[in-house]
Amino acid sequence: MLLNRSERSYKRIIVIGGGFGGVELARKLKDRDVEVLLIDRNNYHTFQPLLYQVATGTLASDSIAFPLRKMFKSQQNFRFRMAEVERIDHENKFVHTSVGTYDYDYLIIATGATTNFFGNKEVERYALPMKNIVEAQNIRSYVLQNFEEAVLRKNMSDRERYLNFVVVGGGPTGVELSGAIAEIQLHMMKKDYPELSSNEMNVYLIEGMGKVLGALSEKSSRDAERYLKELGVNIVLNTTVTNYDGNTITLSNGESIPTKTVIWGAGVMGQFPEGLDKEIIQRGNRIQTDGQCRVIGMQDVYAIGDVAAMMTEKYPRGLPGVAPAAQQQGKYVAQHIMNNMNAQESEDFEYFDKGSMATVGRNRAVVDLKSFHMNGFLAWMTWMFVHLVSIFGFRNRVVTFVNWSIKFLTKNSGIRLIINKYQRPQPMDKVITEVD
Ligand SMILES: Cc1cc2nc3c(=O)[nH]c(=O)nc-3n(C[C@H](O)[C@H](O)[C@H](O)COP(=O)(O)OP(=O)(O)OC[C@H]3O[C@@H](n4cnc5c(N)ncnc54)[C@H](O)[C@@H]3O)c2cc1C
Repeated sequence: MLLNRSERSYKRIIVIGGGFGGVELARKLKDRDVEVLLIDRNNYHTFQPLLYQVATGTLASDSIAFPLRKMFKSQQNFRFRMAEVERIDHENKFVHTSVGTYDYDYLIIATGATTNFFGNKEVERYALPMKNIVEAQNIRSYVLQNFEEAVLRKNMSDRERYLNFVVVGGGPTGVELSGAIAEIQLHMMKKDYPELSSNEMNVYLIEGMGKVLGALSEKSSRDAERYLKELGVNIVLNTTVTNYDGNTITLSNGESIPTKTVIWGAGVMGQFPEGLDKEIIQRGNRIQTDGQCRVIGMQDVYAIGDVAAMMTEKYPRGLPGVAPAAQQQGKYVAQHIMNNMNAQESEDFEYFDKGSMATVGRNRAVVDLKSFHMNGFLAWMTWMFVHLVSIFGFRNRVVTFVNWSIKFLTKNSGIRLIINKYQRPQPMDKVITEVD
């Protein structure tokens, strides 16, 4: 049982969210004279950078997830509750959750981000997001379901919408995902679906800007575009999505593509519980902090990672939404709290940018390290190494390495199981008729 504020002699630090930021922070408080209570709606940490490999069947979902209790099994001052945090009462220092109310001395909001459909309800209804394991599994099932549907149809024109796959957003997620789907076409389709011709399948990548990987160097952007084209991906630049009704996607350039599968990687926005003042919510639904990760106007409350908006001179629009930024802030806040408890001042947080990378199918990647650029096989090996050492858990690393090795040797994309059939939402007009 957890003790109440009046019953305990030590401080309680509540961390909402067991993502990259929350986990790093909790770890840094090991052996400190405080209680760390981590609350997450899931009992596991998700390694989001490899979600696209779950979505395309290279990895099983348990290879990129790690149980939070197991992660902290040797940390004496650690407690965990699997719960949804619903509301923060910062005046009385309580968090209200789906399993009860807990008091805190320090609170860290590390709740990350969710998919942003920019208010387009119809797109939101039918497009597939990829922010967590369940959503990645849905994509895997749905892509395979569409192949199964396609083989049932005699006419090519009837099969078309089942074999057109559209990925929206040309950032790292969209680039990696569209490359991996194109590899399904190249290596799996012919073997598993002899009734279909691989020429019938099309992969589209839609990007609103004039290039893919806009946040990376010019060279990386150009290389990634070339790799995608070599894999057969149709890249549509300077174009946004105007609508998607579940059967046809319409674009701002006036074109439309018949498709049952639209995967949305075009935007994210912060997610957090209720109880925060509207004035401190910034662009992208992120919580404004000062230079020391403290939420503006809230005593002893910090926000870190994707949910936080720390605007600095170098990053006037906030820090980039990447794992290293969340981890560095987690580490920083752990030390900040210790300093605060010892009545010591802290320097402002400074983000150290380690570089960026993205992979485009087998054997190809791009890596930007400061002013140094790498591409091709060497970049791909670097990408694999960095991801392998970053995944939590020895077993997960071994399983991932074995899977990648098998895929490299056989070009076989692994898991092709439809365990839970993905049920698409019904068309709006049908729902309205049924309610009537
Ligand atoms: C598909 C994809 C690919 C990516 N690729 C890369 C990459 O290659 N490199 C890179 O650096 N970054 C990448 N990122 C971004 C990176 O994953 C994020 O920047 C990072 O996860 C942010 O960490 P965080 O701790 O802020 O939040 P998260 O890791 O998102 O963790 C948030 C946690 O909070 C929990 N939570 C949220 N709300 C509540 C609530 N109300 N109650 C209880 N629990 C809650 C969630 O369950 C989750 O566990 C990628 C992201 C995605 C989606």
